Amino acid sequence: MSDTYQTIANSPMGKALFNAINLPIPVILERWQPGQKSFISGRVLVGAAPGSSAVDTVFATLKGAPEAQPAVLANTGNASDLQKQAAAVGVSADNYTATKEDDSKFKALVFDATGIETPEQLKALWEFFHPVIKKLDKCARVLVIGRTPETLGGAARVAQRGLEGFTRSVGKEIKRGSTVQLVYCDAGAESQLAAPLHFFLSPKSAYVSAQVVRVGASGFDADAFDWDKPLAGKKALVTGGSRGIGASIARVLARDGAEVTVLDIPPMAEDLNKVAEEIQGQTLELDITSDEAPRVIAEAARKMGGLDILVHNAGVTRDKMLGNMPENFWDMVLNINIASQLRINEQLVADGALGDGGRIVSISSIAGIAGNLGQTNYGTSKAAVIGMIDTYSEEYADKGITVNAVAPGFIETQMTAAIPFTIREAGRRMNTMNQGGQPVDVAETIAFFASPAAQGLSGNVVRVCGQMMLGA
Ligand code: NAD
Repeated sequence: MSDTYQTIANSPMGKALFNAINLPIPVILERWQPGQKSFISGRVLVGAAPGSSAVDTVFATLKGAPEAQPAVLANTGNASDLQKQAAAVGVSADNYTATKEDDSKFKALVFDATGIETPEQLKALWEFFHPVIKKLDKCARVLVIGRTPETLGGAARVAQRGLEGFTRSVGKEIKRGSTVQLVYCDAGAESQLAAPLHFFLSPKSAYVSAQVVRVGASGFDADAFDWDKPLAGKKALVTGGSRGIGASIARVLARDGAEVTVLDIPPMAEDLNKVAEEIQGQTLELDITSDEAPRVIAEAARKMGGLDILVHNAGVTRDKMLGNMPENFWDMVLNINIASQLRINEQLVADGALGDGGRIVSISSIAGIAGNLGQTNYGTSKAAVIGMIDTYSEEYADKGITVNAVAPGFIETQMTAAIPFTIREAGRRMNTMNQGGQPVDVAETIAFFASPAAQGLSGNVVRVCGQMMLGA
Protein backbone atom coordinates (compact mmCIF):
# COMPACT_ATOMS: atom_id res chain seq x y z
CA MET A 1 0.00 0.00 0.00
CA SER A 2 1.33 3.45 -0.84
CA ASP A 3 1.91 6.24 1.66
CA THR A 4 0.59 9.38 -0.08
CA TYR A 5 1.89 11.72 2.62
CA GLN A 6 5.44 10.37 2.16
CA THR A 7 5.22 10.66 -1.63
CA ILE A 8 4.08 14.31 -1.49
CA ALA A 9 6.56 15.22 1.27
CA ASN A 10 9.44 13.92 -0.87
CA SER A 11 8.44 15.78 -4.07
CA PRO A 12 10.42 19.01 -4.71
CA MET A 13 7.39 21.26 -4.04
CA GLY A 14 6.20 19.18 -1.11
CA LYS A 15 9.64 19.28 0.51
CA ALA A 16 9.73 23.10 0.39
CA LEU A 17 6.19 23.39 1.73
CA PHE A 18 6.57 20.78 4.49
CA ASN A 19 9.85 22.39 5.62
CA ALA A 20 8.22 25.84 5.68
CA ILE A 21 5.39 24.68 7.94
CA ASN A 22 7.65 22.37 9.95
CA LEU A 23 5.98 19.06 9.11
CA PRO A 24 8.06 15.85 9.31
CA ILE A 25 9.34 14.52 5.97
CA PRO A 26 9.53 10.70 6.15
CA VAL A 27 12.78 9.73 4.42
CA ILE A 28 12.58 7.19 1.61
CA LEU A 29 14.51 4.37 3.28
CA GLU A 30 17.39 2.68 1.46
CA ARG A 31 16.58 -0.99 1.03
CA TRP A 32 18.62 -3.93 -0.24
CA GLN A 33 18.89 -3.95 -4.05
CA PRO A 34 19.29 -7.13 -6.12
CA GLY A 35 22.89 -7.58 -7.18
CA GLN A 36 24.23 -5.30 -4.44
CA LYS A 37 27.81 -6.44 -3.86
CA SER A 38 28.71 -4.71 -0.60
CA PHE A 39 26.51 -5.02 2.48
CA ILE A 40 27.59 -1.48 3.39
CA SER A 41 29.06 1.28 1.22
CA GLY A 42 30.80 4.36 2.58
CA ARG A 43 32.85 5.40 5.57
CA VAL A 44 32.59 3.25 8.70
CA LEU A 45 34.11 4.65 11.87
CA VAL A 46 35.13 1.96 14.35
CA GLY A 47 35.95 2.56 18.02
CA ALA A 48 36.44 0.50 21.16
CA ALA A 49 36.52 1.02 24.92
CA PRO A 50 39.78 -0.20 26.53
CA GLY A 51 39.81 -3.95 27.18
CA SER A 52 37.15 -4.71 24.54
CA SER A 53 37.27 -7.91 22.51
CA ALA A 54 34.96 -7.65 19.48
CA VAL A 55 36.82 -5.24 17.27
CA ASP A 56 38.80 -7.96 15.40
CA THR A 57 35.52 -9.49 14.21
CA VAL A 58 34.25 -6.04 13.21
CA PHE A 59 37.28 -5.44 10.95
CA ALA A 60 37.25 -9.02 9.63
CA THR A 61 33.56 -8.64 8.71
CA LEU A 62 34.13 -5.25 7.05
CA LYS A 63 36.75 -6.94 4.87
CA GLY A 64 33.80 -8.65 3.18
CA ALA A 65 32.27 -5.27 2.23
CA PRO A 66 34.35 -4.06 -0.75
CA GLU A 67 32.68 -0.63 -0.75
CA ALA A 68 33.20 0.07 2.96
CA GLN A 69 35.95 2.49 4.01
CA PRO A 70 36.93 1.75 7.61
CA ALA A 71 38.40 4.52 9.79
CA VAL A 72 39.33 5.09 13.43
CA LEU A 73 39.14 8.26 15.53
CA ALA A 74 42.63 9.78 15.64
CA ASN A 75 42.06 11.72 18.86
CA THR A 76 41.33 8.68 21.06
CA GLY A 77 44.06 6.92 23.01
CA ASN A 78 43.81 3.53 21.28
CA ALA A 79 43.68 4.68 17.61
CA SER A 80 47.01 3.11 16.68
CA ASP A 81 46.10 -0.19 18.42
CA LEU A 82 42.85 -0.30 16.44
CA GLN A 83 44.73 0.33 13.22
CA LYS A 84 47.07 -2.54 14.04
CA GLN A 85 44.09 -4.83 14.73
CA ALA A 86 42.60 -3.82 11.36
CA ALA A 87 45.91 -4.45 9.58
CA ALA A 88 46.16 -7.89 11.22
CA VAL A 89 43.04 -9.00 9.33
CA GLY A 90 44.16 -7.27 6.13
CA VAL A 91 42.11 -4.08 6.44
CA SER A 92 43.54 -0.60 6.20
CA ALA A 93 41.77 1.91 8.43
CA ASP A 94 42.09 5.69 7.91
CA ASN A 95 42.96 7.98 10.77
CA TYR A 96 40.07 10.41 11.13
CA THR A 97 40.28 13.66 13.10
CA ALA A 98 36.89 15.13 13.94
CA THR A 99 36.55 18.89 13.70
CA LYS A 100 33.48 21.10 13.57
CA GLU A 101 34.47 22.45 10.15
CA ASP A 102 34.97 19.02 8.58
CA ASP A 103 31.83 17.98 6.74
CA SER A 104 32.60 14.29 6.08
CA LYS A 105 29.70 11.91 6.48
CA PHE A 106 29.71 8.41 7.96
CA LYS A 107 27.57 5.53 6.77
CA ALA A 108 28.15 3.73 10.07
CA LEU A 109 29.55 4.21 13.55
CA VAL A 110 30.47 0.95 15.27
CA PHE A 111 31.57 0.95 18.90
CA ASP A 112 32.87 -2.06 20.80
CA ALA A 113 31.86 -1.50 24.43
CA THR A 114 32.52 -5.06 25.64
CA GLY A 115 35.39 -3.86 27.84
CA ILE A 116 33.26 -1.45 29.92
CA GLU A 117 33.16 -2.64 33.54
CA THR A 118 31.98 0.36 35.58
CA PRO A 119 29.47 3.21 35.20
CA GLU A 120 32.43 5.62 35.05
CA GLN A 121 33.81 3.80 32.01
CA LEU A 122 30.52 4.40 30.16
CA LYS A 123 32.05 7.78 29.37
CA ALA A 124 33.85 6.03 26.52
CA LEU A 125 30.49 6.22 24.71
CA TRP A 126 30.44 10.01 24.98
CA GLU A 127 34.08 10.26 23.95
CA PHE A 128 33.51 8.26 20.77
CA PHE A 129 30.06 9.42 19.68
CA HIS A 130 29.99 13.08 20.75
CA PRO A 131 32.39 14.38 18.04
CA VAL A 132 30.82 12.36 15.21
CA ILE A 133 27.13 11.74 15.87
CA LYS A 134 26.14 14.83 13.86
CA LYS A 135 28.16 13.55 10.90
CA LEU A 136 25.85 10.66 10.03
CA ASP A 137 24.91 10.20 6.39
CA LYS A 138 21.29 9.53 5.31
CA CYS A 139 20.09 6.00 6.30
CA ALA A 140 23.27 5.48 8.33
CA ARG A 141 23.86 2.74 10.91
CA VAL A 142 24.96 3.00 14.52
CA LEU A 143 25.97 -0.23 16.25
CA VAL A 144 27.08 -0.76 19.83
CA ILE A 145 28.49 -4.12 20.91
CA GLY A 146 28.29 -4.95 24.60
CA ARG A 147 28.89 -7.93 26.91
CA THR A 148 25.72 -9.88 27.82
CA PRO A 149 24.79 -8.43 31.25
CA GLU A 150 23.34 -11.73 32.58
CA THR A 151 26.78 -13.33 32.22
CA LEU A 152 28.36 -10.70 34.47
CA GLY A 153 28.08 -9.54 38.07
CA GLY A 154 28.58 -6.35 40.10
CA ALA A 155 29.44 -3.04 38.46
CA ALA A 156 30.13 -4.60 35.06
CA ARG A 157 26.56 -5.94 34.85
CA VAL A 158 25.20 -2.56 35.93
CA ALA A 159 27.26 -0.66 33.36
CA GLN A 160 26.50 -3.03 30.48
CA ARG A 161 22.77 -2.74 31.16
CA GLY A 162 23.20 1.01 30.72
CA LEU A 163 23.98 0.50 27.03
CA GLU A 164 20.28 -0.17 26.36
CA GLY A 165 19.28 3.30 27.49
CA PHE A 166 22.09 4.83 25.48
CA THR A 167 21.20 3.12 22.19
CA ARG A 168 17.44 3.65 22.54
CA SER A 169 18.01 7.36 23.23
CA VAL A 170 20.41 7.69 20.29
CA GLY A 171 17.65 6.15 18.15
CA LYS A 172 15.36 9.03 19.04
CA GLU A 173 18.01 11.63 18.18
CA ILE A 174 19.39 10.43 14.85
CA LYS A 175 17.13 11.30 11.94
CA ARG A 176 16.95 10.84 8.17
CA GLY A 177 16.32 7.10 8.20
CA SER A 178 19.29 6.15 10.36
CA THR A 179 19.09 3.22 12.78
CA VAL A 180 20.85 2.10 15.96
CA GLN A 181 21.16 -1.36 17.54
CA LEU A 182 22.80 -2.99 20.54
CA VAL A 183 24.30 -6.46 20.22
CA TYR A 184 25.20 -8.18 23.48
CA CYS A 185 27.88 -10.81 22.96
CA ASP A 186 28.91 -13.58 25.39
CA ALA A 187 32.62 -13.79 26.19
CA GLY A 188 34.18 -16.15 23.64
CA ALA A 189 31.33 -15.68 21.11
CA GLU A 190 32.90 -12.74 19.27
CA SER A 191 33.27 -14.67 15.97
CA GLN A 192 29.46 -15.10 15.95
CA LEU A 193 29.02 -11.34 15.52
CA ALA A 194 29.46 -11.71 11.75
CA ALA A 195 25.72 -12.34 11.16
CA PRO A 196 24.39 -9.39 13.19
CA LEU A 197 27.07 -7.12 11.70
CA HIS A 198 26.07 -8.13 8.17
CA PHE A 199 22.39 -7.59 8.89
CA PHE A 200 22.38 -4.49 11.06
CA LEU A 201 24.92 -2.57 8.94
CA SER A 202 23.12 -3.34 5.69
CA PRO A 203 19.97 -1.85 4.09
CA LYS A 204 18.24 -5.16 4.92
CA SER A 205 17.55 -3.72 8.39
CA ALA A 206 16.06 -0.45 7.00
CA TYR A 207 13.04 -0.37 9.36
CA VAL A 208 14.67 -2.04 12.41
CA SER A 209 15.89 0.37 15.07
CA ALA A 210 16.66 0.50 18.80
CA GLN A 211 16.75 -3.30 19.09
CA VAL A 212 18.79 -5.44 21.43
CA VAL A 213 19.95 -8.95 20.46
CA ARG A 214 22.04 -11.48 22.35
CA VAL A 215 24.69 -13.62 20.68
CA GLY A 216 26.15 -16.79 22.17
CA ALA A 217 28.88 -19.21 21.15
CA SER A 218 28.37 -21.66 18.28
CA GLY A 219 30.47 -23.57 15.77
CA PHE A 220 29.47 -21.36 12.81
CA ASP A 221 32.51 -20.41 10.70
CA ALA A 222 32.07 -17.01 9.01
CA ASP A 223 35.15 -17.42 6.77
CA ALA A 224 33.81 -20.48 4.98
CA PHE A 225 30.33 -19.04 4.36
CA ASP A 226 28.62 -17.85 1.16
CA TRP A 227 27.09 -14.55 2.28
CA ASP A 228 25.51 -14.01 -1.17
CA LYS A 229 23.42 -17.20 -0.98
CA PRO A 230 23.14 -17.77 2.76
CA LEU A 231 20.25 -20.26 2.48
CA ALA A 232 21.59 -22.35 -0.41
CA GLY A 233 20.46 -25.96 -0.04
CA LYS A 234 18.02 -25.15 2.79
CA LYS A 235 14.37 -26.18 2.79
CA ALA A 236 11.85 -23.77 4.23
CA LEU A 237 8.12 -23.78 5.02
CA VAL A 238 6.21 -20.49 5.39
CA THR A 239 2.67 -20.60 6.79
CA GLY A 240 0.21 -17.98 5.54
CA GLY A 241 2.44 -17.60 2.48
CA SER A 242 -0.16 -16.60 -0.13
CA ARG A 243 -0.07 -12.83 0.44
CA GLY A 244 1.18 -9.94 2.57
CA ILE A 245 4.13 -10.54 4.85
CA GLY A 246 4.13 -14.33 4.26
CA ALA A 247 4.51 -13.95 0.47
CA SER A 248 7.34 -11.49 1.03
CA ILE A 249 9.09 -13.93 3.41
CA ALA A 250 8.81 -16.66 0.79
CA ARG A 251 10.37 -14.38 -1.86
CA VAL A 252 13.28 -13.30 0.36
CA LEU A 253 14.05 -16.86 1.52
CA ALA A 254 14.00 -18.00 -2.13
CA ARG A 255 16.23 -15.06 -3.14
CA ASP A 256 18.70 -16.22 -0.49
CA GLY A 257 18.80 -19.70 -2.02
CA ALA A 258 16.19 -21.71 -0.07
CA GLU A 259 13.69 -24.15 -1.59
CA VAL A 260 10.42 -22.79 -0.22
CA THR A 261 7.04 -24.40 0.40
CA VAL A 262 4.23 -21.93 0.97
CA LEU A 263 1.24 -23.04 3.03
CA ASP A 264 -2.19 -21.44 3.25
CA ILE A 265 -5.85 -22.35 3.66
CA PRO A 266 -7.55 -23.93 0.58
CA PRO A 267 -9.61 -20.77 -0.27
CA MET A 268 -6.28 -18.94 -0.87
CA ALA A 269 -5.11 -21.56 -3.43
CA GLU A 270 -5.04 -19.17 -6.40
CA ASP A 271 -2.79 -16.62 -4.68
CA LEU A 272 -0.73 -19.41 -3.14
CA ASN A 273 -0.03 -20.93 -6.57
CA LYS A 274 1.03 -17.53 -7.94
CA VAL A 275 3.59 -17.07 -5.16
CA ALA A 276 4.90 -20.64 -5.57
CA GLU A 277 5.22 -20.19 -9.33
CA GLU A 278 7.12 -16.93 -8.92
CA ILE A 279 9.67 -18.46 -6.56
CA GLN A 280 9.67 -21.94 -8.13
CA GLY A 281 8.48 -23.37 -4.86
CA GLN A 282 5.88 -25.88 -3.64
CA THR A 283 2.44 -25.35 -2.13
CA LEU A 284 0.61 -26.95 0.77
CA GLU A 285 -3.11 -26.19 1.09
CA LEU A 286 -3.91 -26.72 4.73
CA ASP A 287 -5.60 -25.14 7.73
CA ILE A 288 -2.90 -25.13 10.44
CA THR A 289 -5.54 -25.51 13.16
CA SER A 290 -6.89 -28.79 11.76
CA ASP A 291 -6.22 -31.99 13.72
CA GLU A 292 -4.20 -33.49 10.89
CA ALA A 293 -2.05 -30.37 10.26
CA PRO A 294 1.04 -31.42 12.30
CA ARG A 295 1.08 -34.87 10.67
CA VAL A 296 0.51 -33.51 7.13
CA ILE A 297 3.30 -30.93 7.56
CA ALA A 298 5.65 -33.58 8.96
CA GLU A 299 4.91 -35.84 5.98
CA ALA A 300 5.49 -32.98 3.52
CA ALA A 301 8.76 -32.20 5.32
CA ARG A 302 9.91 -35.80 5.01
CA LYS A 303 9.08 -35.80 1.27
CA MET A 304 11.28 -32.70 0.91
CA GLY A 305 14.10 -34.65 2.57
CA GLY A 306 13.69 -32.81 5.88
CA LEU A 307 12.92 -29.23 6.77
CA ASP A 308 15.55 -26.70 7.87
CA ILE A 309 13.47 -23.55 8.37
CA LEU A 310 9.94 -23.27 9.76
CA VAL A 311 8.34 -19.81 9.64
CA HIS A 312 5.12 -19.39 11.63
CA ASN A 313 3.65 -16.41 9.83
CA ALA A 314 -0.06 -17.24 9.53
CA GLY A 315 -2.02 -15.03 11.88
CA VAL A 316 -5.39 -13.33 12.18
CA THR A 317 -7.05 -10.51 14.10
CA ARG A 318 -10.66 -10.56 15.36
CA ASP A 319 -10.89 -7.28 17.25
CA LYS A 320 -13.56 -6.40 19.83
CA MET A 321 -13.46 -4.84 23.27
CA LEU A 322 -13.28 -7.67 25.81
CA GLY A 323 -16.83 -7.12 27.09
CA ASN A 324 -18.20 -7.46 23.54
CA MET A 325 -15.91 -10.22 22.34
CA PRO A 326 -17.67 -13.41 21.23
CA GLU A 327 -16.17 -16.71 22.36
CA ASN A 328 -15.35 -17.75 18.78
CA PHE A 329 -13.20 -14.61 18.28
CA TRP A 330 -11.11 -15.60 21.28
CA ASP A 331 -10.83 -19.26 20.28
CA MET A 332 -9.95 -18.59 16.65
CA VAL A 333 -7.19 -16.05 17.33
CA LEU A 334 -5.56 -18.12 20.09
CA ASN A 335 -5.74 -21.30 18.02
CA ILE A 336 -4.24 -19.88 14.80
CA ASN A 337 -1.73 -17.48 16.33
CA ILE A 338 -0.19 -19.72 19.01
CA ALA A 339 -1.77 -23.09 19.92
CA SER A 340 -1.35 -24.57 16.43
CA GLN A 341 2.31 -23.48 16.37
CA LEU A 342 3.08 -25.51 19.50
CA ARG A 343 1.41 -28.62 18.06
CA ILE A 344 3.34 -28.28 14.78
CA ASN A 345 6.70 -27.67 16.50
CA GLU A 346 6.25 -30.64 18.79
CA GLN A 347 5.43 -33.06 15.97
CA LEU A 348 8.21 -31.81 13.65
CA VAL A 349 10.89 -31.90 16.31
CA ALA A 350 9.76 -35.18 17.90
CA ASP A 351 9.99 -37.17 14.66
CA GLY A 352 13.05 -35.34 13.34
CA ALA A 353 11.26 -33.70 10.35
CA LEU A 354 12.87 -30.44 11.53
CA GLY A 355 16.40 -31.65 11.93
CA ASP A 356 19.25 -30.69 14.23
CA GLY A 357 20.41 -27.14 13.52
CA GLY A 358 16.89 -26.24 12.34
CA ARG A 359 15.35 -22.79 12.55
CA ILE A 360 11.97 -21.80 13.97
CA VAL A 361 10.99 -18.18 13.45
CA SER A 362 7.58 -16.90 14.54
CA ILE A 363 5.78 -13.59 14.12
CA SER A 364 4.77 -11.78 17.26
CA SER A 365 3.52 -8.16 17.25
CA ILE A 366 3.88 -4.86 19.04
CA ALA A 367 0.38 -5.68 20.39
CA GLY A 368 1.99 -8.61 22.23
CA ILE A 369 4.49 -6.23 23.85
CA ALA A 370 2.53 -3.04 24.50
CA GLY A 371 -1.04 -4.40 24.39
CA ASN A 372 -3.72 -2.79 22.22
CA LEU A 373 -7.28 -1.58 22.64
CA GLY A 374 -9.76 -4.14 21.32
CA GLN A 375 -7.07 -6.79 20.95
CA THR A 376 -7.06 -8.78 24.19
CA ASN A 377 -7.22 -12.00 22.17
CA TYR A 378 -4.53 -10.94 19.67
CA GLY A 379 -2.27 -9.37 22.34
CA THR A 380 -2.49 -12.57 24.41
CA SER A 381 -1.61 -14.75 21.43
CA LYS A 382 1.31 -12.57 20.33
CA ALA A 383 2.75 -12.31 23.88
CA ALA A 384 2.44 -16.09 24.08
CA VAL A 385 4.60 -16.29 20.93
CA ILE A 386 7.32 -14.55 22.94
CA GLY A 387 6.75 -17.15 25.68
CA MET A 388 7.26 -19.84 23.05
CA ILE A 389 10.58 -18.27 22.09
CA ASP A 390 11.72 -18.17 25.73
CA THR A 391 10.73 -21.78 26.39
CA TYR A 392 11.75 -23.58 23.22
CA SER A 393 15.02 -21.72 22.66
CA GLU A 394 16.10 -23.43 25.90
CA GLU A 395 14.39 -26.76 25.29
CA TYR A 396 15.75 -27.24 21.74
CA ALA A 397 19.23 -25.83 22.44
CA ASP A 398 20.84 -29.27 22.66
CA LYS A 399 19.62 -30.03 19.10
CA GLY A 400 21.07 -26.75 17.81
CA ILE A 401 17.55 -25.65 16.80
CA THR A 402 17.24 -21.88 17.24
CA VAL A 403 13.91 -20.25 18.05
CA ASN A 404 13.43 -16.52 17.51
CA ALA A 405 10.59 -14.06 16.90
CA VAL A 406 10.06 -10.94 14.87
CA ALA A 407 7.57 -8.39 16.19
CA PRO A 408 6.29 -6.09 13.44
CA GLY A 409 4.92 -2.65 14.22
CA PHE A 410 2.87 -0.92 11.52
CA ILE A 411 3.49 -2.74 8.23
CA GLU A 412 1.82 -1.70 4.96
CA THR A 413 -0.37 -4.75 4.16
CA GLN A 414 -4.02 -5.62 3.51
CA MET A 415 -4.34 -6.12 7.28
CA THR A 416 -3.39 -2.50 8.02
CA ALA A 417 -5.12 -1.08 4.90
CA ALA A 418 -8.38 -2.19 6.51
CA ILE A 419 -7.83 0.11 9.54
CA PRO A 420 -9.95 3.36 9.47
CA PHE A 421 -7.99 6.33 7.99
CA THR A 422 -7.31 8.43 11.12
CA ILE A 423 -6.22 5.46 13.26
CA ARG A 424 -4.12 4.19 10.34
CA GLU A 425 -2.38 7.57 9.92
CA ALA A 426 -1.63 7.74 13.67
CA GLY A 427 -0.26 4.17 13.71
CA ARG A 428 1.89 4.85 10.69
CA ARG A 429 3.55 8.01 12.06
CA MET A 430 4.09 6.96 15.70
CA ASN A 431 7.71 5.92 15.21
CA THR A 432 11.04 7.63 14.77
CA MET A 433 10.97 6.96 10.98
CA ASN A 434 7.53 8.67 10.62
CA GLN A 435 6.31 5.92 8.31
CA GLY A 436 5.05 2.34 8.14
CA GLY A 437 7.36 -0.53 7.26
CA GLN A 438 7.13 -2.75 4.18
CA PRO A 439 6.51 -6.54 4.27
CA VAL A 440 10.06 -6.98 2.97
CA ASP A 441 11.42 -5.39 6.17
CA VAL A 442 9.86 -8.20 8.22
CA ALA A 443 10.99 -10.76 5.64
CA GLU A 444 14.63 -9.63 5.76
CA THR A 445 14.64 -9.98 9.56
CA ILE A 446 13.20 -13.50 9.29
CA ALA A 447 15.90 -14.38 6.73
CA PHE A 448 18.55 -13.08 9.16
CA PHE A 449 17.37 -15.50 11.86
CA ALA A 450 16.88 -18.33 9.33
CA SER A 451 20.50 -18.19 8.16
CA PRO A 452 23.12 -20.76 9.25
CA ALA A 453 25.16 -17.67 10.21
CA ALA A 454 22.68 -16.98 13.02
CA GLN A 455 23.48 -20.24 14.87
CA GLY A 456 24.58 -18.19 17.89
CA LEU A 457 21.26 -16.33 18.10
CA SER A 458 18.36 -18.01 19.88
CA GLY A 459 15.61 -16.70 22.18
CA ASN A 460 15.61 -13.22 20.61
CA VAL A 461 12.66 -10.99 19.77
CA VAL A 462 13.44 -8.27 17.24
CA ARG A 463 10.88 -5.56 16.60
CA VAL A 464 10.49 -4.34 13.04
CA CYS A 465 8.76 -1.11 13.91
CA GLY A 466 10.96 1.89 13.05
CA GLN A 467 11.34 2.39 16.83
CA MET A 468 7.63 2.69 17.52
CA MET A 469 6.75 4.75 20.54
CA LEU A 470 4.38 2.06 21.89
CA GLY A 471 5.93 -0.43 24.28
CA ALA A 472 9.44 0.89 23.64
P1 NAD B 1 -2.54 -11.31 6.07
O1 NAD B 1 -3.92 -11.40 6.59
O2 NAD B 1 -2.32 -10.54 4.81
O3 NAD B 1 -1.92 -12.78 5.88
C1 NAD B 1 -2.11 -13.82 6.80
C2 NAD B 1 -2.16 -15.13 6.04
O4 NAD B 1 -2.35 -16.19 6.98
C3 NAD B 1 -3.34 -15.17 5.05
O5 NAD B 1 -2.90 -15.57 3.78
C4 NAD B 1 -4.26 -16.20 5.67
O6 NAD B 1 -5.06 -16.91 4.72
C5 NAD B 1 -3.29 -17.11 6.41
N1 NAD B 1 -3.99 -17.89 7.43
C6 NAD B 1 -4.89 -17.43 8.34
N2 NAD B 1 -5.37 -18.46 9.06
C7 NAD B 1 -4.76 -19.59 8.62
C8 NAD B 1 -4.85 -20.96 8.98
N3 NAD B 1 -5.69 -21.37 9.93
N4 NAD B 1 -4.08 -21.85 8.32
C9 NAD B 1 -3.24 -21.44 7.34
N5 NAD B 1 -3.11 -20.14 6.96
C10 NAD B 1 -3.86 -19.23 7.59
O7 NAD B 1 -1.67 -10.72 7.26
P2 NAD B 1 -0.21 -10.02 7.28
O8 NAD B 1 -0.42 -8.58 7.56
O9 NAD B 1 0.60 -10.43 6.12
O10 NAD B 1 0.35 -10.68 8.62
C11 NAD B 1 1.24 -11.78 8.68
C12 NAD B 1 1.65 -12.01 10.13
O11 NAD B 1 2.23 -10.81 10.65
C13 NAD B 1 0.49 -12.34 11.05
O12 NAD B 1 0.93 -13.28 12.02
C14 NAD B 1 0.19 -11.02 11.72
O13 NAD B 1 -0.44 -11.18 12.96
C15 NAD B 1 1.58 -10.43 11.85
N6 NAD B 1 1.62 -8.97 12.02
C16 NAD B 1 1.25 -8.13 11.00
C17 NAD B 1 1.33 -6.74 11.20
C18 NAD B 1 0.97 -5.75 10.13
O14 NAD B 1 1.14 -4.55 10.34
N7 NAD B 1 0.50 -6.17 8.96
C19 NAD B 1 1.78 -6.24 12.43
C20 NAD B 1 2.13 -7.13 13.44
C21 NAD B 1 2.07 -8.50 13.21
